[in-house]
Amino acid sequence: MNYYGNPITRLIEQLSALPGIGGKSAQRLAFHIIHLPQEKVDALSSAIREAKQQVKYCSVCCNLTDDDPCSICGNPKRDHSTIMVVEDPRDMAAYERTREYYGVYHVLHGAISPMTGIGPQDIHIAELIKRMDDTVKEVILATNPNVEGEATAMYISRLLKPLGIKVTRIANGVPVGGDLEYVDEVTLSRALEGRREL
Ligand code: ZN
Repeated sequence: MNYYGNPITRLIEQLSALPGIGGKSAQRLAFHIIHLPQEKVDALSSAIREAKQQVKYCSVCCNLTDDDPCSICGNPKRDHSTIMVVEDPRDMAAYERTREYYGVYHVLHGAISPMTGIGPQDIHIAELIKRMDDTVKEVILATNPNVEGEATAMYISRLLKPLGIKVTRIANGVPVGGDLEYVDEVTLSRALEGRREL
């Protein structure tokens, strides 16, 4: 039912298409936006547009960045011989918050999930394999400790082991079925320390 006129209805539709935003939240946000001063609305819409235009994948680690290579890949003080593989940029951010990890990352942007039809070619595994040369000493598989994350870790380890690269998996200090993004820093640090070779 179109109670509010087409422009507001369109805004509510767009907002309710976002993850985690139900119909009621979308209405609340839409009315909040309508009541904002024009310059705040302009700032919000240009932030959305510029983020989409300027943010791209780092050509090395596939992290989201507006600089290529990203600030971590481009940092000579990081240990470029150790690569931690994570599913999501937010997992990388979680490990950065521990301040215990000085290596570099590789962001897959997903996990293998036969249930939802996501195969190895749908995530950034090929880019990881391309990074494997003599300078790589260890690949730490820090995918989430759930069915998809474990399947992804096993798949990558099978590809890397024949190349003679040390492949490790973070320890199970991380709760099984958990989402790395929400795990506290101490637990993440312990999981990293307790990693075992595959
Ligand atoms: Zn990078």
